[in-house]
Amino acid sequence: MYPLGHFGVALVFAAPIVYGLGRKAGTVYALVVLLAAMAPDLDLYLPYVAHHGLTHTFAFAVATALVGGSIATVLVLLYHRAAGPPRFSFLTPRHVFLYTTLALFTGVASHVVADIFVVLPGTQPISPFWPVNVRHFHIKLIPLGAPLRNGLLFLGGISIVAVTCWLWAGRNSR
Ligand SMILES: [Zn+2]
Repeated sequence: MYPLGHFGVALVFAAPIVYGLGRKAGTVYALVVLLAAMAPDLDLYLPYVAHHGLTHTFAFAVATALVGGSIATVLVLLYHRAAGPPRFSFLTPRHVFLYTTLALFTGVASHVVADIFVVLPGTQPISPFWPVNVRHFHIKLIPLGAPLRNGLLFLGGISIVAVTCWLWAGRNSR
């Protein structure tokens, strides 16, 4: 799938948590999800790593989430030590670990799910459940390989997040 399509799917996956977190924290959360959604395709630029291999598995999503969440937590602890108690009450190490882990997992997992449905011409199907199951998975639901359709998927994702923000605004004006 093209990056635009991946962004769209990632936004759809992120929407429920974005809704729960509210505007500011929700925006940061969505940005982390979007960044993480592109991580699996870094395999295109890494030497000795096959495209649609290790980085296109749920195991990679879990590993990325745990490593990234731990790094973010250490950074927040160091920040607390240097700058004193946090200005924002949600910036506790526990929250930072929870939301970073969740955002990274959501982003990478959304990419894996999207690539199960869309395999671009010239690329091989992925094995999302490696190492538990090495079988290739490809579900041909709708042919989404074309750039235009990826763009439409992105618009769909943006629309869902826009509706989420609108619902959020409505919830807070009451
Ligand atoms: Zn991919």
